[in-house]
Amino acid sequence: MKLKEKLTLPSRHFASDNYAGICPEAWDALAEANRNHAPGYGDDKWTTQAADLIRDLFETKCEVFFVFNGTAANSLSLASTCQSYHSILCHRLAHVENDECGAPEFFSNGTKVLLLDGPDGKLTPEEITRAVRRRTDIHFPKARSVSVTQATECGTVYAPDELAAIGRATRRLGLKLHMDGARFANAIAHLNVKPKEVTWKAGVDVLCFGATKNGSSLGEAVVFFNRAMAQEFDYRCKQAGQLASKMRFLSAPWVGMLHGGAWLRHAAHANRMAALLHEKLRALPPVKILFPRQANAVFAELPQEVIAGLRARGWKFYTFIGESGCRFMCSWDTTASDVDGFAADIAALLAGTMKSPRTKLRRVSSRQSN
Ligand SMILES: *Cc1c(COP(=O)(O)O)cnc(C)c1O
Repeated sequence: MKLKEKLTLPSRHFASDNYAGICPEAWDALAEANRNHAPGYGDDKWTTQAADLIRDLFETKCEVFFVFNGTAANSLSLASTCQSYHSILCHRLAHVENDECGAPEFFSNGTKVLLLDGPDGKLTPEEITRAVRRRTDIHFPKARSVSVTQATECGTVYAPDELAAIGRATRRLGLKLHMDGARFANAIAHLNVKPKEVTWKAGVDVLCFGATKNGSSLGEAVVFFNRAMAQEFDYRCKQAGQLASKMRFLSAPWVGMLHGGAWLRHAAHANRMAALLHEKLRALPPVKILFPRQANAVFAELPQEVIAGLRARGWKFYTFIGESGCRFMCSWDTTASDVDGFAADIAALLAGTMKSPRTKLRRVSSRQSN
């Protein structure tokens, strides 16, 4: 009986795409890179090949650096856009503000991060312009950079024309444009455009291109389209403890994921699973969907009893929007049957809270037969 109970606990979750393991393409590349000796600190063929594949993907000559994680990628690249007396504008919900423990301010020696509002986690040219014009006197830090997140922290995606408009505004205002692309692949899978259309062609100076949440082990790429800004970035990485000695283990997964297009396949799959979950939740009237479903997340408001019930059944997910706003994140290895099982549990718990006769007729959720 005990064993049976244990087997019914979900093995995959909707908490974050970083709960997922390493995809086979990244894993195989790591194994391949592990066969022989190779030079350290990025002077190896894997790092060269990964950077070349990124240049091919973006169809431009960009400067590429690999760091351990997204916080380092964001904060070091932002620091290279500004001086300590400048400011960085980002959305109130941005990861750089809420989830990096002040690293962007720390690595830029005190540059102030200013928070802007905008619908669905997105900045607008109007908001940016207003924020820059609000104070232009010597007593206030001078606006220098804008950071956008693609896909956003709300699971939405900037369309190419929205980014182009932001790019035009930032250039007009003399600002640099930074993109946090922890889920850039999910954004591209949603938009179905070439990566250049929503980066350098739209005026993005530097992109933090994430792979970890898309199935890699670790290692994010900092991609400078504005190559002048990459000057001495290697020193910045080294000083911050972000120059990997065995760099090939950060870069080889990129080769594995980019070479045969796995990066986009995995992202498209995660997006599809989120679309499936969205469809199922939409059919449950008391559930309120909080943001348009575009990338690999569904944000929904559920009754407290249902949240508690899901947790009791072993599901893991985040609730960080108000009291009852949940984030359900799908990853490269989420299966349709995971989604079915999760949605069935939500439906059953909702039925229970409404004291509907369906409570008694509750089906055993399909994840129990996985
Ligand atoms: C996960 C994430 C990052 C990177 O976070 P690390 O934990 O430092 O790797 C950056 N931006 C966004 C929007 C994220 O979701």
